[in-house]
Amino acid sequence: MNFAIAGAGVAGSYLGNMLQKRGHDVDIFEASKKDHHWPVCAWGASRHMLERFSNQAGLDFSNYIFHVGEQLKIELPNNNEESLELKGLVTYNKYAWEADLLKNVTVTYGVKVTREAFAFDKYDYIIDCTGLHRSLLPKSGQDFLIPAYEYLLENVKGADDFYVIGYKGAKGYFWYFPLGDERGYMGAGDIEKKYYGIEAFFKQHPEAKVVKKIGRPIRLAPSKRMEPFYDGNIIGVGESIGSVFPMLGEGIIPSLICCDIFLDVLDRSKRRFDFKQYRKKVLDTFDYYDDVYKIVRLKMDGKLRTVRHINLMMSMYRNMKKEEKRFGFEISLEKMTRLVNAL
Ligand SMILES: Cc1cc2nc3c(=O)[nH]c(=O)nc-3n(C[C@H](O)[C@H](O)[C@H](O)COP(=O)(O)OP(=O)(O)OC[C@H]3O[C@@H](n4cnc5c(N)ncnc54)[C@H](O)[C@@H]3O)c2cc1C
Repeated sequence: MNFAIAGAGVAGSYLGNMLQKRGHDVDIFEASKKDHHWPVCAWGASRHMLERFSNQAGLDFSNYIFHVGEQLKIELPNNNEESLELKGLVTYNKYAWEADLLKNVTVTYGVKVTREAFAFDKYDYIIDCTGLHRSLLPKSGQDFLIPAYEYLLENVKGADDFYVIGYKGAKGYFWYFPLGDERGYMGAGDIEKKYYGIEAFFKQHPEAKVVKKIGRPIRLAPSKRMEPFYDGNIIGVGESIGSVFPMLGEGIIPSLICCDIFLDVLDRSKRRFDFKQYRKKVLDTFDYYDDVYKIVRLKMDGKLRTVRHINLMMSMYRNMKKEEKRFGFEISLEKMTRLVNAL
């Protein structure tokens, strides 16, 4: 079959690689110019899952790991502090990983695909992997984005492991994700755009040198609120259809899981891609993300009550616990409740 993919981010790169391996013709179109193409992200995700996706794509993930986390330190409002034992959370060279996935795939850079000006007839299917932009699918009335930006830093002394500051009312959080060799990503997502923690970090680390400042909002609206997933021969995969874990704005693994759902449905489809099956599988897989999203929004509105909303809390806990390895950190009901209450 003939596929066009709009967007060479994590979903577009992985999907391009995997479709080509299956013998399909693939053309990828990426809006940014090749020299400016950079994965805007803090490059943190579960090693366990990335090993699986790398194996499937024929890459050795150990070549890409920058930093293996041991403990995540979390600062909370009112001087509360918490720490989570890490179970495989790493930072990795996302730039190189995606570039290597695309080694043998045709990518045209500097082309912003639009609904108005694209040769849709040339392809059997067009995959919308444009992430936040969702450039080809109709907009969703229930979308929800959180503004974010970050710095790529070098020469950062004494910040050796994952560190976050949770904002009051779950309005966002500050992060420092080490990349090894005194480099790291420092940034924040904040619905109120105050980005608490960034200024203080620079004051604490006057030696830190800014290599890059990058940013874009993160979609928190989960798949259930990001329909339609397809329109004519356009199919959305990745953050474009809400595969982001809403509590953390974490989208690498969910987007790759979404790619695998797409590939699985494609493999099982008879003549035409089974759109309905794809929709069902995406909704089923990310079903509990909607409960997590509700927790976040209730918290933001100051309406979350741990007793009244116990079902939502239990849904988040049970589902995350089942997938502890996929998250890469310990999942404890006690800590989760303390964290949510402290925000
Ligand atoms: C500051 C920040 C930090 C983050 N940190 C993490 C993290 O540490 N861990 C984690 O799991 N998640 C993180 N995320 C979220 C994660 O990066 C995304 O959810 C994930 O990259 C989504 O993958 P995607 O392939 O769907 O979209 P993207 O990776 O966003 O890729 C979309 C691509 O499409 C291109 N594009 C857009 N419009 C068009 C168009 N019209 N035509 C052609 N190309 C187009 C873009 O240039 C881009 O290359 C972070 C997000 C932000 C903003």
